[in-house]
Amino acid sequence: MTQNKTYLFANWKMYLDYDESNILANALAEKSKKFSDEIEMTVFPSALSLYPVAQTLSDVKINVGPQNIYWVDKGGYTGETSAQMFKAAGSSHALIGHSERRHLFHETNHDVRQKIEASLNAELTPVLCVGETEKERDEGKTEEIVEIQLRATLEDLNWPKDRELIVAYEPVWAIGTGNACDPAEAERMHDKIFNWIKGLAPGISPVLLYGGSVRGENVEGYLQMSHINGVLVGGSSAKLESWMEIIENSTRAVEKL
Ligand code: PEP
Repeated sequence: MTQNKTYLFANWKMYLDYDESNILANALAEKSKKFSDEIEMTVFPSALSLYPVAQTLSDVKINVGPQNIYWVDKGGYTGETSAQMFKAAGSSHALIGHSERRHLFHETNHDVRQKIEASLNAELTPVLCVGETEKERDEGKTEEIVEIQLRATLEDLNWPKDRELIVAYEPVWAIGTGNACDPAEAERMHDKIFNWIKGLAPGISPVLLYGGSVRGENVEGYLQMSHINGVLVGGSSAKLESWMEIIENSTRAVEKL
């Protein structure tokens, strides 16, 4: 895996039940023979569906990971599932600090850091999500908020040299709203994020994704940006037709680069 690839990451959120997840995984497995080698795809199904989805995708080049993990390996933590458990169930990645976890479930930067550390210990590649709310943006605090999120999570962490450092910049106001961030504005933040990470994890070249209302019709605009290595997609990744449109348009964009 290198940054020469284009990363298409699919957050199925709680949109798909067990049967729907398996149907979509089977359809992707079927279509995957035609996917470009330049595309690195990872899907994040519900915890309930992760094991069968991982089984279905184990023979094709599509990675699987949970949408959230708990940082203790085992114990009396009702309702939680550990990074180790997800690893054993066939995961390679883990989504960490998604804005819905931060804002609906009150996850703090400290929690996010513990989840990042647990993912690394379990040999999962964490996908760290950062981004400002609409209020923070209106108050001109976008850079301050994102830098705090990165610093709290990555400072003094000693990132393993053999593990990708993947960060998804997802402005909260763009998630699930149809109000996607302008690619040039996203690129400006990715450039900042790239430089902050260079300071926080010297020697590591991060993989940076954009997330927030990505669709087939706007994906190319992001992939043309030099610091955007791919996209993290929610709503449009949970339906075969819209996800295939994103894959096809991304493949076309990659070929033009
Ligand atoms: C997400 O949930 O990470 C996301 C980007 O959602 P959507 O694509 O629906 O905006």
